[in-house]
Amino acid sequence: MNRVCKAAGCTKRAASRFGNYCHSHRSRLRRHGALNQDAVTKADLKIYRQLVRERIEKNKDKALWNKLKAVWVALINDANVVVERWRKGTPMADYNRITAFELVKLSNAVEPEDVVQTVLAMYLLQDQEPKKIKGDKAFLTQMVRRVRGLTNLNAGTWTDNATGRTKTAYRELSPKAVERLGMKLAIAFGPAGLTLAKLERKDHERKMRELTEYHQALGDIQ
Ligand SMILES: [Zn+2]
Repeated sequence: MNRVCKAAGCTKRAASRFGNYCHSHRSRLRRHGALNQDAVTKADLKIYRQLVRERIEKNKDKALWNKLKAVWVALINDANVVVERWRKGTPMADYNRITAFELVKLSNAVEPEDVVQTVLAMYLLQDQEPKKIKGDKAFLTQMVRRVRGLTNLNAGTWTDNATGRTKTAYRELSPKAVERLGMKLAIAFGPAGLTLAKLERKDHERKMRELTEYHQALGDIQ
């Protein structure tokens, strides 16, 4: 008999003979990257994308933004090479091929700015609301979800039998492909993301300090 699901408090049986988790915990782990990870939504990311955009506005003449775009172009060029190799019959791991196809698909459907902003915004969110991210794998998984969510290419529709309504579901990638895609994005844009997060935190701390000083000054008025 399958063992009991390893998720805390769950008494269901594991979904497979050698598996650790029941069906629902297994799919949660796949979808979100950690058992206790909630989806980072487009709404969660909105304010951070705004901060990234403002930072870009403030630094329009800095070479960094063009460099980030160039990094994206290089990533897509690499992906195209992999796709081409696959077409010629070169043997390769599934997740390798899938990651390359995903990147090419994204580049055809989404502006580079959108991808870069989304990835950088994830770093700001992680820095400012660390409780929302339950570990590195969860971070990569949520980042990939948000980037893939920029296009509805990945969405398939299905009809909910109970309600008769048409629903949209994103086609899921294998955990390995998610991790690989996430790592590629992290390697490409992570350093910039961390730098931006640090800048935002400094600005925020300065504003808070000014506010405190202002309140103290008000208190000093006689
Ligand atoms: Zn379970």
